[in-house]
Amino acid sequence: YYNSNTVIYLDDEFVKARDAKTDLYGQSLHYGYAAFEGIRAYKTHNATRIFKAREHFERLKRSCDLTGIPFNWDINDLIGKTYRLLELNNLKDAYIRPLVFCEPNMSLTTPKASNIMICAWEWGSYFGDKQLKVCISPYERPNPKSIHIEAKMSGHYVNAILASGDAKNKGFDEALLLDAKGFIAEAPSANIFIEKNGKLYTPALGNILPGITRATIIELCKILDIEVIEKQISTDFLHNADSAFFCGTAVEVVGIHTIDDVVYRPRWRDSIGATLQRAYKNLVLEKVNYEVII
Ligand code: PMP
Repeated sequence: YYNSNTVIYLDDEFVKARDAKTDLYGQSLHYGYAAFEGIRAYKTHNATRIFKAREHFERLKRSCDLTGIPFNWDINDLIGKTYRLLELNNLKDAYIRPLVFCEPNMSLTTPKASNIMICAWEWGSYFGDKQLKVCISPYERPNPKSIHIEAKMSGHYVNAILASGDAKNKGFDEALLLDAKGFIAEAPSANIFIEKNGKLYTPALGNILPGITRATIIELCKILDIEVIEKQISTDFLHNADSAFFCGTAVEVVGIHTIDDVVYRPRWRDSIGATLQRAYKNLVLEKVNYEVII
């Protein structure tokens, strides 16, 4: 992720990653009490562009607001600093990771101050071009009555690592987690869309992270005249669907080949997901106008 020349942004300064220090007596390290984002920049034919930068930094602020972490930065300024960070590291295509973490404090009180760091590195599509073998995880997504599931908090990713690790140990590429009521929720780091009879279905907000890619897919579907239904989805419905895909900043749009022992028969390239995969790529690379997205 970094080498001796890598520069990060830390509390209003650009510093060498290797020289940057943090306090070991902090709530973020001990209790997972920190908020973060995952953003991508793409080398378009115009210039390097951070895709949906504002939406990501706004979600970072919302995560902090929901959980009592002070957020005292200007979003436009952070976007500008992130572009500068990419320049300083000579990155054209990049994955960008802002993290807001808390001042030294070992008690369980909300903090008075916080720090921000932003780092970036080159990171190809998380799963590449393959279609995934997915299993329904024995781990559930955290109950939204216990935490703010719509906030992207570091501590939530213990659940994500457990689910993903369990899936990989069983020979799958990725896990799909259910919510506390047993309906489909999301993957450890992606949302899901399911195709059935020419329409798309996706879990309604409430038990999932409101993905920025999910919102982008819904926007693309409006343009492409594809109906999207947001609702509670059962595992039966998923097993009897025509196709399905994950979407997220890191994974982009990636097709699902099997769920548990159910194989989706139609070819991926004939699915609505494949059309959206192309449209999404074109959109992030600014290859076409929004009106003629495919
Ligand atoms: N769900 C979870 C749990 C995630 O970690 C992510 C990745 N941030 C997503 C969904 C997809 O969100 P986005 O499209 O904003 O990257």
